Amino acid sequence: MNTRAAELIRPEILALSAYAVPSSDGFIKLDAMENPYTFPEALKPQLMAHLAAASLNRYPDAGASVLREAIREAMQIPAELDIVLGNGSDEIIQIIAAACAKPGATLLAFEPSFVMFKMIATFCGLRYAGVPLTADFAIDMEATRLAIKKQQPAVVFIAYPNNPTGNLFSRDAIHEIITNSPGLVVIDEAYFAFASRSFLDEIANFPNAVLMRTVSKLGLAGLRLGLLAGHPEWIREFDKVRLPYNINSLTQAGATFALKHYVALLAQATTLRIERTQMLALLRTYPGVTVFASEANFILLRVPDSKKTFDALLSRKILVKHTGTSHPLLANTLRVTIGTPTENAAFLAALRDII
Ligand code: PMP
Repeated sequence: MNTRAAELIRPEILALSAYAVPSSDGFIKLDAMENPYTFPEALKPQLMAHLAAASLNRYPDAGASVLREAIREAMQIPAELDIVLGNGSDEIIQIIAAACAKPGATLLAFEPSFVMFKMIATFCGLRYAGVPLTADFAIDMEATRLAIKKQQPAVVFIAYPNNPTGNLFSRDAIHEIITNSPGLVVIDEAYFAFASRSFLDEIANFPNAVLMRTVSKLGLAGLRLGLLAGHPEWIREFDKVRLPYNINSLTQAGATFALKHYVALLAQATTLRIERTQMLALLRTYPGVTVFASEANFILLRVPDSKKTFDALLSRKILVKHTGTSHPLLANTLRVTIGTPTENAAFLAALRDII
């Protein structure tokens, strides 16, 4: 059918591939950094009561004020910072990009990192500058200085810890980037619950830096809720770009209740950190496997032939992420989310068998 879509849609959108989410029915699902543990059973009746009390005939609270306060309290967001919420932190990236998309403006990110930084830059009509990390996934300061000088980025996204490499970048490097950037620097702490360090306690010191988090990796991925904490001058502008009612009533009710039990969610994250330590130690004994240190709820591995290993895992009903073809620095890598002890044992046994 001649719909003229190919003429009317922007060429940069025609050139994109949609964010791929494979079907996972019947698989051990270790591909998407989800928390494998469900919301504590004992709390589910109360959660249901909160959801049942939501007025679905009405629009949600447009500013989600009760939920924002629950987040502020649970995560101890400094009083001088305001908060804007997103339908996942993906939406926050989009809000920031849309707000900063002056003609010719550039979004800078590191590579490899979270693929949505580049995709969203493209959607929003920003130029994109990707600065390669070093072979051990550190920020290449020389290249970054040059890129900042040349590109004058309106916004820089830094995932801390980084996805898919799992490491925390040097704080000195990040400080230098914030200090030398002409624009905004977004510290994306999607994996904060699994990391040994955070920028939360110092983000308010910087006039041009903001901090983004999500509850997705904390066991609430299905709610779709992310947040940005920053000085009111930034948050006020981003709030104008946010669509009205972007956080639905069930998410507001569910997350407000869930965050009252933040300690229980963090306890699950602690369990996953312990599992991660054990998995790292075991994987290091596997011949032919290179394991990268991780501060997140996933581990990046290098194997002799990642496509073959990925397919062999798939045939054993284990789904991981094949990162091996996404960037030259990631050649022959797989990214494995930390699951339950049973899931991890199944993965480890299968990998040992395959390699
Ligand atoms: N930032 C990073 C670094 C991520 O890895 C992800 C999820 N893969 C996100 C943001 C988006 O998370 P969500 O939209 O679920 O909040």
